[in-house]
Amino acid sequence: MTDLDYTGFWNTTLTQLRNDLGEEEFSGWFTDLRYLRAGENLIVIGVPSTFHRDKVKARYQNAIKTRLKELAGKDIALEFELAGDKAENSPSVPETAAGGSGHTGQKKGNLPSKAPEKLPQIEKPEKGRHPNLRDDYTFDNYIMGENNKFAVMVAKGISDKPGINYNPCLIYGGVGLGKTHLMQAIGNKIHETGDYKIIYTTAENFLNEFVQSIKENKPNSFKNKFRYTDVLLIDDIHFFQEKEGIQEELFHTYNTLLSSKKQLVFTCDRPITELKKFSERLLSRFVEGISVDLRPPQYEERCAILKLTAEKRGANISDEVIDVISKNISSNVRDLKSALNILIAYSELMGQSVTVEIAQQRLRDTFISPRQANLSIETIQRVAADYFGLTIKDMTGKKRSQNIVFPRQLAMYVAREMTEFSTTEIGQVFGGRDHTTVMHSIEKIKGQLLTDSTLDSTIESLKRLVKEFSSKS
Ligand code: ADP
Ligand code: MG
Repeated sequence: MTDLDYTGFWNTTLTQLRNDLGEEEFSGWFTDLRYLRAGENLIVIGVPSTFHRDKVKARYQNAIKTRLKELAGKDIALEFELAGDKAENSPSVPETAAGGSGHTGQKKGNLPSKAPEKLPQIEKPEKGRHPNLRDDYTFDNYIMGENNKFAVMVAKGISDKPGINYNPCLIYGGVGLGKTHLMQAIGNKIHETGDYKIIYTTAENFLNEFVQSIKENKPNSFKNKFRYTDVLLIDDIHFFQEKEGIQEELFHTYNTLLSSKKQLVFTCDRPITELKKFSERLLSRFVEGISVDLRPPQYEERCAILKLTAEKRGANISDEVIDVISKNISSNVRDLKSALNILIAYSELMGQSVTVEIAQQRLRDTFISPRQANLSIETIQRVAADYFGLTIKDMTGKKRSQNIVFPRQLAMYVAREMTEFSTTEIGQVFGGRDHTTVMHSIEKIKGQLLTDSTLDSTIESLKRLVKEFSSKS
């Protein structure tokens, strides 16, 4: 298949979409797209911005692919590239990728829309943030200490030479110890320094996309996505335990990528050998690579993390207060940061700096262990409902609209974090829901936390309000 044939498919697809959607909608989303090049069963399209790309993907990707499939008689994957980005070294790169100043050797006649030299980005390609990585999860924001030194060195080694150093890599350790942060730091660094395609996904999302592709009878769309990438980061692979189908798929993805020297990084909440019902052949694959673990930070690192976090937030927290927090919370970094957030919120709201006494008083419950506080699930429901302008009935009822589902899931998550109640007990109070529904909600929120940097603070606010409410009642 030549490049030219695919250009024809693309143009015809655009003509059909223009007819189907009408001029107004079409021109809003399609006139700024440009055919860049083709690969095997693949078309690469230039987009003006990540926002534009995400919208096109969400709204039109399926329609485009259906039409391409009809025209080509087979699945053709779509890839989007920021128009300012340099094309990857593919044999069929058309001249549009040259991007030199003053001239382009652009192919005449075949391009359906704007010529690339008109785009302002072409002179000075500017790389935005990666859409699925948190921009604050960088190496700069990651404190290195004895507990994680080896892991950080390996992670940096990977970012220097993806696919060559330490491949595959497994980062493991308990909750809140910085696995996701470190993994995304690798992604962010590679994204910033090179022209690589990077996919970050949670294991749950990997499974969901797989299931979806089967449902829609488009197994190739899944394969093309995960097997045509330079770097694949899969977070929380303990989620794959006891799920044989997806382990099989992971095995094939793994082999394809590794044989073409593409970088794989995984995280897991335990050493890989402790996973339950995990395929033997996958296990043996992991042995080929490197495993690094993260342990809870020591006192010095805890202080350093708090200092850095306060500094990034522009908050003035004294060394004495940092000492109090570091001495009292040793479990993990997430709890440490939560405690600091409570104090920063307090000082912002009250307009006064935090003293050691205030810190001790405010964090009393946290120091005892938040889960021991005498908190009811109903209190959390009440606070969450108020916060989102809903009723208790919305929290416990069956309505499925997104403005209710999300607060409900968030409330379940907070209930699990702040109390000792089991998912079964939480489910009962949330309108007699099954414990698996509660677990799903919690996983959902955890997944969103990984890519939404504002959710952390929403959760912190909720927790703070819950504590305030329960200390009054
Ligand atoms: P995990 O994925 O292991 O559960 P996360 O990566 O989500 O943990 O980390 C929890 C929180 O702690 C995040 O806010 C993260 O930025 C922070 N964190 C973890 N380790 C460090 C570290 N070494 N330096 C700075 N912040 C850290
Ligand atoms: Mg994580």
